[in-house]
Amino acid sequence: MKILIAASEVVPFAKTGGLADVAGALPLALEELNQDVIIAMPRYKAVAGAKFAIQRLKEDISSSTIGKNIRVYFIENDSYFNREGLYGNKNGDHKDNLDRFSFFCKRTLQLLKEINFKADIIHVHDWQAALIPVYLKTVYTNDAFYEKIKTVLTIHNIGYQGIFSKDEFPKLGLDWSLFALDGLEFYNKVNILKGGIEFSDLINTVSPTYSQEIQTKQFGFGLEGVLDRRKSSLFGILNGLDYSIWNPETDKFIAKNYSLDSLPDKYKNKQDLLKLCKLPQKKEVPLFGIVSRLAEQKGFDILAMVMEKICKLNLQLVILGTGDLKYHNLLEGMAKKYPKVISLHLKFDDALAHKIYAGSDIFLMPSKYEPCGLGQMISLRYGTIPLVFKTGGLADTVTKDNGFVFDVYNKEELLKAVKKSIAAFAKKEKWEKLMLKALQHNFSWKESAKKYLDLYEKTKAQ
Ligand code: ADP
Repeated sequence: MKILIAASEVVPFAKTGGLADVAGALPLALEELNQDVIIAMPRYKAVAGAKFAIQRLKEDISSSTIGKNIRVYFIENDSYFNREGLYGNKNGDHKDNLDRFSFFCKRTLQLLKEINFKADIIHVHDWQAALIPVYLKTVYTNDAFYEKIKTVLTIHNIGYQGIFSKDEFPKLGLDWSLFALDGLEFYNKVNILKGGIEFSDLINTVSPTYSQEIQTKQFGFGLEGVLDRRKSSLFGILNGLDYSIWNPETDKFIAKNYSLDSLPDKYKNKQDLLKLCKLPQKKEVPLFGIVSRLAEQKGFDILAMVMEKICKLNLQLVILGTGDLKYHNLLEGMAKKYPKVISLHLKFDDALAHKIYAGSDIFLMPSKYEPCGLGQMISLRYGTIPLVFKTGGLADTVTKDNGFVFDVYNKEELLKAVKKSIAAFAKKEKWEKLMLKALQHNFSWKESAKKYLDLYEKTKAQ
């Protein structure tokens, strides 16, 4: 099958979040399944020629290769993309994001014809690429080249929709009739993701549970009605995990590699982490780890409410993250007050993240909502038991058989789950069984890619 993946960020070229991981890893797994895949993304300032082997194809198109032979096409436009920040900077979102990403979508579609790549499927990701299905089904309907192309839209986080003032609508080059309830209109504004949902052949999210949740008022961010109308075309496919990066047997960042057969070596990583974090060495006390954006979505609202109580329990806690200033301040206060309990690292640090996944006993991830979530999948691979709220991808990957799950989102239930996990940690034999079970999980990209292929087949049959 011929597949174009269109995304606004792709590993290894540009990344702000999980979208880039998916857009980089899925093509590789599809290539392994013998599919003909190409990628299109904007050429940002960060995609510098010195770092990657990039060739010039046209005045405004350059390209690179990943995997065995996956062409990555960079859409260039210096006035739009040659600046700091993919979507914004410290002053907020870039003001011309509608211009920037509508340009990206239009130019990507033109490019297909120029390189004569008659895609069976265009797989677009998030609002930044969501105009592709809209243009395809409106502007391009009379062009035979595009006639048979089908589209799949993946929603990575419905909290981000690309909403703009009505005044900007003419810049899209679409007929005003599309500024309507069954088009891009949303409370008298332009909503690009909504357009993508309306015009894509099939839609999916990054976990089965999240695909259900976003059809409800609680999780839908206003698009629940639109999604409910399209529910027979809405699916959920769990992201895979890149095991070449996340593997305790080969991980270069951790003090001691370990596997199912050498589980006691995991403890050496705990010793190393405690030392690094200047926390007292306490074998019998569970060490909790957090690696996260410090945001309400990640559960920090309820965590903040019970932080003091948690610090008084028999545990230790390493926190790595950046995010909202209010959580920075709160956690700094706690770390000062309980220096023997909390070790706080307010930064982005990949090496330390690896050490936390390997060295902790329990991984704390009480997200309020979670489209898929990587942290819990990584921690399972490292035999570090996740403690999560039952939502989205967390509900699809963590159960009471491999972790701790609370199913009402409030501070009391969170505290209860923490206490339960501390009690469980004391029962050594049972705990070891739990770790062994966790370590055996397999969230490989191969499995996810096969599911995407099925989805593409379904889309073709539409
Ligand atoms: P998100 O919603 O932030 O994309 P995910 O759980 O899907 O959440 O993925 C987050 C990824 O970013 C994980 O691989 C996690 O280890 C990593 N990460 C988050 N914060 C940090 C940090 N401060 N330092 C290093 N890695 C981090």
